[in-house]
Amino acid sequence: MKKPVVDEDTCVGCGSCVEICPNVFELKNDKAYVINPEGCDSCDCEAAAGICPVEAITLTD
Ligand code: SF4
Repeated sequence: MKKPVVDEDTCVGCGSCVEICPNVFELKNDKAYVINPEGCDSCDCEAAAGICPVEAITLTD
């Protein structure tokens, strides 16, 4: 299963990934953090990575 990683420098804190995958991402100080890399039970975070407006989320093996 792929694990999401957020590039803090790139993230603009829009919260979209948190809305899509609240089990995986959390917003803190206007930055998204991965709180549970294996918490996605539906899309392996593909949707979150896809919706990020600044492409701050990468999926790693
Ligand atoms: S969708 Fe992208 S820019 Fe928005 S909070 Fe998540 S990582 Fe940050």
